[in-house]
Amino acid sequence: MKRIPVLLTIVVMLLLGCASEKSGEAEDARGGTPVVYVSNYPLKYFAERIGSGHAQVRFPATASGDPAYWKPTPDDVLAMHKADLILLSGASYEKWLANVSLPPSRLIDTAAGASDAFIELEEEITHSHGPEGEHEHVGLAFTIWMDMTLAVEQAHAVKEAFAARWPAHKQQFEERFAALERDLQTLDADFRAVVAVNPDLRVVFSHPVYQYFARRYGVNGRSVHWEPDAMPDASMWSEMQELLAEHRAPWMLWEGEPLPEIAQYLADLGVRSVVVDPCGNQPEAGDFLSVMRDNVTHLRRVYTGEAS
Ligand SMILES: [Zn+2]
Repeated sequence: MKRIPVLLTIVVMLLLGCASEKSGEAEDARGGTPVVYVSNYPLKYFAERIGSGHAQVRFPATASGDPAYWKPTPDDVLAMHKADLILLSGASYEKWLANVSLPPSRLIDTAAGASDAFIELEEEITHSHGPEGEHEHVGLAFTIWMDMTLAVEQAHAVKEAFAARWPAHKQQFEERFAALERDLQTLDADFRAVVAVNPDLRVVFSHPVYQYFARRYGVNGRSVHWEPDAMPDASMWSEMQELLAEHRAPWMLWEGEPLPEIAQYLADLGVRSVVVDPCGNQPEAGDFLSVMRDNVTHLRRVYTGEAS
């Protein structure tokens, strides 16, 4: 029963794919607001800072817990076919791309210029905790924007794509990118300065998403695979004790605030919890910049040993 709609959808998608190559220009000529799709929140933030007033930015994965494990519906794919640009975070972030066909001329891989900096994951990690069910980490580490110099590369790619698509506004895109670059460079300097206070300090990462961050800022960390809202089972706790026996870490870095009972168990093991949010999804309050500034503040507490 499910087969016919799926087949129909594919046919429609193929037809649209052929027909809509030129429709973006036609929409521009009609004066419609151009549409840009993004696959995660950092790209939304960069695209809005650089392109506001010129393009409407759409982030369909925002309703999912973690956009890295989002899967587009057929309607999402149809909508993306009509977009002027589709911005990708790259470094294998968009696993869903393998299952859909989108017009290559409008797909912008914002990490393409940074491929020399990509980090291969050492082992395949699958786990079944958290609200989204099972997910795995294979191939490349993808949280590249947590190295602020790579975030600049991505923002630069967004600016270049906008300037190529809407050359009349190139000057404004350049100016806005320059301001964004300064903000990201300030964060880069702040992260470096904070970690440099005590570079030997050991930490535990709660989830394998801090690889680029750790490399850029010299964070001496080892990773487990926990979720802030799922109590680890007995085997995970004993793994943690083994890890701490060889990697004495007084702090654990979390993507979000862990459950109080997890924080308490950890405290009993001598490990305090601190949030360093990669901000892959839209924050409840603030924006990319304010979340990263909070991360700097939280890390300052870790590295200077101030009481929380
Ligand atoms: Zn995971």
